[in-house]
Amino acid sequence: TMPDLTRLDLLRNACFVGGKWIAADTGEVIEVTNPATGETISTVPRMGADEAARAIAAAEAAGTNWAARTGKERAAILRRWYELMRDNRADLGAILTAEQGKPWEEAKGEIDYAASFIEWFGEEAKRVYGETIPGHQRDKRLIVFKQPVGVCAAITPWNFPAAMITRKAGAALAAGCTMVIKPASLTPLTALALCVLAEEAGVPPGVLNCVTGSAATIGGELTSNPTVRKVSFTGSTEIGKELIKQCADTVKRTSMELGGNAPFIVFDDADLDAAVEGAIASKYRNAGQTCVCANRLFVQDAVHDAFVEKLTARVATLKVAQGFEEGAQIGPLIDMAAVEKVETLVLDAVSQGATLVIGGARHGKGASFFQPTIVSGVTPAMLIFHEEIFGPVAPIIRFKDENEVFAMSNDTPFGLAAYFYGRDIGRVYRTAEALDFGIIGANTGLISTEVAPFGGMKESGHGREGSSHGIEDYLEIKYLCLSIA
Ligand code: ADP
Repeated sequence: TMPDLTRLDLLRNACFVGGKWIAADTGEVIEVTNPATGETISTVPRMGADEAARAIAAAEAAGTNWAARTGKERAAILRRWYELMRDNRADLGAILTAEQGKPWEEAKGEIDYAASFIEWFGEEAKRVYGETIPGHQRDKRLIVFKQPVGVCAAITPWNFPAAMITRKAGAALAAGCTMVIKPASLTPLTALALCVLAEEAGVPPGVLNCVTGSAATIGGELTSNPTVRKVSFTGSTEIGKELIKQCADTVKRTSMELGGNAPFIVFDDADLDAAVEGAIASKYRNAGQTCVCANRLFVQDAVHDAFVEKLTARVATLKVAQGFEEGAQIGPLIDMAAVEKVETLVLDAVSQGATLVIGGARHGKGASFFQPTIVSGVTPAMLIFHEEIFGPVAPIIRFKDENEVFAMSNDTPFGLAAYFYGRDIGRVYRTAEALDFGIIGANTGLISTEVAPFGGMKESGHGREGSSHGIEDYLEIKYLCLSIA
């Protein structure tokens, strides 16, 4: 179970609106459970459209003053928020593990990663540069400057309860926008804890708001209320498409970070040990529940058997355990629906001729645990080739040559992350160019950092988070044509 928190006040069962901690109008609550045990940790308010509208109004009221501050003033507050997150990483990580399930070490790593976005965007707040354009007429001076978009909404998923919030809120607040967050109902406690620290850091009332509750009603208000000028969403492609449609009526800007189906290619000149480590990192992190997880492992003929053997040996060492157990590496899946989905995908593959190399079934640790699994002999006829697995299962596909693997890799509506291992410099570059994915790891399985642009192509979404590009999504470009005559 959860270790004692140093700061019990980080665990909130109220929402944060206009700088106040409030309950739902109806008094109704949602239970938050620990996916490893099914036990209830706490409750949060079940809010709806009315409370969401009030949060939007609070964000609007706070907007003028927040936007008027200098970048440096906003940066100082974000810096304090960043430091508070770092100082409280153990507590925040514990809350995160309790509600999400990932190993505590990994959860603390997520808190560091999440905090890095606040640090990064605070620094970027000072560098929102415009441009001057040589006039098209003798008496004209053309000036381009950037202004905050205004009130923004963030709808975030359960797999990264901290980082998916900070990469949106950090950029928004740095740009001078204000924000209403609707965290995933499965993992709202981390979001509320981040708000406690934001308040402590000096984020003014109304600049950051968090409402928990019904996704459809709160989401409906966030996407239809004309005051909201932008919606940033991370989650499934299915819901993302719905939100884009809902935002069309008021022509809101949207940023969409949606599903993936990442290829992980091992060429015949790869360093196989490095490729195995990369596959472990990219496939099994968070028990396979990340949108950039390797989803299809393509291995070239000549090294196929050796790679499968080495990967299997390594997978056999992974420790499946509850997140607070010492040395835990693979925690539970988020819920029973996730377990059933993974099970269905494995059964479908095996029934169509794939070979179960290791794992393949539920794990004795608890109801929602699944064994780290490898299936080989996977083909495009199988469901597992096309669906986002979101579990600790590595499907292996054998390939012969470059063009074949490029075609198979791109044979998906998704385009988020892709990975490959190989040493031939020409092929490395050809591969990076040929893969229709927004994020590419060459000879590495870990690509996420606040300093680089994260985002997808095709049905994986649009917009970029992190890097100098990340703040642009929260800025309007304004052009001033000045006559000096
Ligand atoms: P996943 O469960 O894979 O993370 P979802 O797209 O189901 O992906 O959920 C991501 C976020 O979207 C969560 O915060 C969820 O509550 C929210 N959500 C789900 N359905 C809707 C909806 N109809 N409108 C707005 N938000 C939604």
